[in-house]
Amino acid sequence: MSNNSRNDQVSSSKLFIWDRKAGRLVGQGATAQALYGFMDRERDIVTVISDEPRAGLKLVARVSTGEIFEGTPTILISKRRLTAFSREGDQLREYEVEIFGERELFERHQGILDGRKLALKSAVHVGGGTVGATVFDQLLKAGVENHVLIDPSNFRPQNISRHLLDLRYLGWPKVKSLEAVAYYRNPSVNINAVQADFTKLSFIKRRELLADADLIISSTDSNDCEFEAAFTALELGIPFIHIGLHERAKSGELCFQIPGYTQCCLNCWLGFRKSLPQQEGEALAYSDIPIDMIGRTIAEPALSVEIGTIVGIAMQWVLAILMGPGSDRWKNLLDAERNLVLINGSGINEPLFSEPFQIVRPYLNQELCELCRSNHEPQQGKE
Ligand SMILES: [Zn+2]
Repeated sequence: MSNNSRNDQVSSSKLFIWDRKAGRLVGQGATAQALYGFMDRERDIVTVISDEPRAGLKLVARVSTGEIFEGTPTILISKRRLTAFSREGDQLREYEVEIFGERELFERHQGILDGRKLALKSAVHVGGGTVGATVFDQLLKAGVENHVLIDPSNFRPQNISRHLLDLRYLGWPKVKSLEAVAYYRNPSVNINAVQADFTKLSFIKRRELLADADLIISSTDSNDCEFEAAFTALELGIPFIHIGLHERAKSGELCFQIPGYTQCCLNCWLGFRKSLPQQEGEALAYSDIPIDMIGRTIAEPALSVEIGTIVGIAMQWVLAILMGPGSDRWKNLLDAERNLVLINGSGINEPLFSEPFQIVRPYLNQELCELCRSNHEPQQGKE
């Protein structure tokens, strides 16, 4: 392949990924400071990421290794036959692409998480605040590659002290910022970043965004949104988890719904709170909990460390649901009859909790909500 034909093909943009073997362009982007090739040996794909000035990491190409390389992956890497060029005046500058593999990224999970299974899972995140972003980051670390992010807001200075994002993202949409960060964790991710208020999306749009979801995780600062997300998940038959923080994140609550497995939904538990005077065996007066305190994620003073306590436990349920009914995590953690958990942080926090770090998993001892009675033929017991 001569330089002339390269020049013909690379005249309109700044950075180009050239497949030497095929003799054609396979990707393009802004001029990079560095390029990384991430090899997925299972699917024989190299994902090429450019580290661009100010903009950070950006996906520029996904290339089948069969198109570029011959022989075994080990030899392919050493040959470095994937080449990138940038055009500077009349000159083409060549960039070296570093290639590393999925095994290196997740080798510390060996024997704990089934990385191949998790990689294929798809999570929808309703809410990109501190809680949602932390869950998102944890799922990236766990190796989950497919994500839909839904949040209407931009990143503000007040978010800095708690959020995964930092000063580099001030003024950016949270969903777009989280997408940018995700490539630093795992270049193979597929992110659909939707800057929107979930409650304002039509049912058709929701169904389109949630269609492939294995799990919907909702952690917004709005009760309405939490219940709408829970309802939509029921309607579509998709597992769902609600993560709510109480006042100042002193405590929090989680509720999961798994169609065909759990007997009651988030809505069922709301009725439970209104009516239940006291749980047998628990020194907690649930009737004293104000309804508007339940399920509300705080937009008020709270420490990242307190939020982390709640999210850490939420992540155990999230992973259990994604690992599926055959996993030990599911068997250990997902009790179909106790799909609500109340978690205390570092304080006493009466009347909810009498001591720090208390975790309460009550049984629902009242009728299912109308929604569950009509939409649902709940399955008794565990698998
Ligand atoms: Zn219900």
